[in-house]
Formats: sequence, C-alpha cells, structure tokens
Amino acid sequence: MRQRLGVYGGTFDPVHNGHLRVAAALLENFALDQLLFVPAFVPPHKRGQVISAPHHRYAMLALATAYEARLLISTIELEAPTRPYTIETLGRLQARYSDAQLFFVMGMDSFRDVTSWREHERLLSEYSVIIAARPGYNVQKLVEAAHLAPRLQTRVIDLCGGLQPRAEELAKPNVFITDYVAVDVSATDVRQTAGAGKSVEQMAPPPVAAYIAKYQLYQLAE
Ligand code: ATP
Repeated sequence: MRQRLGVYGGTFDPVHNGHLRVAAALLENFALDQLLFVPAFVPPHKRGQVISAPHHRYAMLALATAYEARLLISTIELEAPTRPYTIETLGRLQARYSDAQLFFVMGMDSFRDVTSWREHERLLSEYSVIIAARPGYNVQKLVEAAHLAPRLQTRVIDLCGGLQPRAEELAKPNVFITDYVAVDVSATDVRQTAGAGKSVEQMAPPPVAAYIAKYQLYQLAE
C-alpha cells in the first residue's frame, strides 16, 4: 500500500493544542504514516500583520512534535524564494515523496474560501483533502458556502459524528469533512493571552508555553 502522508499547512504562530489534537486524530482515523506540518512563508491573506520570525515558528513546532515520531516538519515553504501557492507546495512535496498519497489538511475556516485559492479545482481533485472542524462551524452551511462546482461536490465525504473513512473512499482523492476534535483555541487566543502576560500552558504544550515566555513572544502583538 502507498504511504499516506498528511500535509498540514498553516502559519503556526504558534502551534497550539487545536493543531496537535487534530494531527493526532488524523494519524489515527486516516491511518496516516506521517503528518508533515508545513509552516507558511506568510500566506497572502495574512500579509500586513505581524507574524513571528520563521525560526520561532519552526522552533515551537519542533518542541511540540519532538516526542511523536510520525509528526514531522517540512521547511519547504520557509525555504521557498517566493511565497508559494498551496498547489505548488503540494506539487513539490509529491515530487519529493513520489510514492506517497498526500492528504492535504485544512481547517474549516480555510475551506470556506477555497474557491479563491489558486487552481482549487485541481487541488481538490488531484489530492486527498481533509477538512478539520473547529468549533463554531456548521458543516452543511460550510459546504454550501464554499460554492464548489457540482463535479467537486460529489467528492465531498461527510465524516462528521466521528465516522471513519472507508477503504475505497481513501483510495481516491476525495474531500473528507471531519469533526474528530473540538478544541476551542486559536493562535490569536494564544498571542493575546501571552501578550497580556498570562501563561498559555492550557493552550499549547508546556515546552511551547515555556518558549513563548522565555523569548517574550507576542508581547506587542494585537
Ligand atoms: P490565527 O488565530 O492566527 O488565525 P490559527 O489558530 O487559525 O491562527 P493557523 O496556523 O492559521 O492557526 O492554522 C492552521 C490550520 O489549522 C488552519 O487551517 C486552521 O483552520 C486550523 N486550526 C487552527 N486552530 C484549530 C482548532 N482549534 N481546531 C481545528 N483546526 C484548527
């Protein structure tokens, strides 16, 4: 069987318990061999905001994933000379892991805007895609709001309610909607809490919380 490789893109400023719980649930439910966190080189929709330096975002991901062999970090976007589109990153990763089946993971908030993404039709039809719920999003409304072409809508598989994908569904590039975990935390919450001088130990793994305090990250944020 082909290796199954999850690809979880994001800013990860910082990585937090929401990301990590999603990653753990996807490793289990999709029987992924590995999941790569792919920190972004400041994605277009976040330009203009203050984003921590790549080395801080990488360091926090490294601390958060040190003890889970299946969770890895890819610097493919951080090293890119220009800001790559997701479809380009996936192409590069597919070339690098040529035998693997890639599962691109995105949050429901990102999915809502997916039709504005570069080559979204190709992205959603060439790669397996996993949409991970975060609290406050209604799946049915979200799929409607995404305004996918009918051809793409037929590939959407609703696994909400903790359902597991079937072998034949996994074999093809489908769009899986999942709600395995509901951790109501965002990186914005973490930055605001740290910025107010409070501990973020409830929101991120202890080494990440310690790193944020040690380097006084987010003191001036928002
Ligand atoms: P910010 O608050 O800065 O927007 P974020 O918490 O959404 O950050 P990102 O690095 O932008 O973090 O997230 C990467 C991906 O993880 C996004 O697709 C996002 O939807 C998803 N994600 C973030 N937090 C959660 C959560 N609590 N549960 C599920 N998915 C999440």
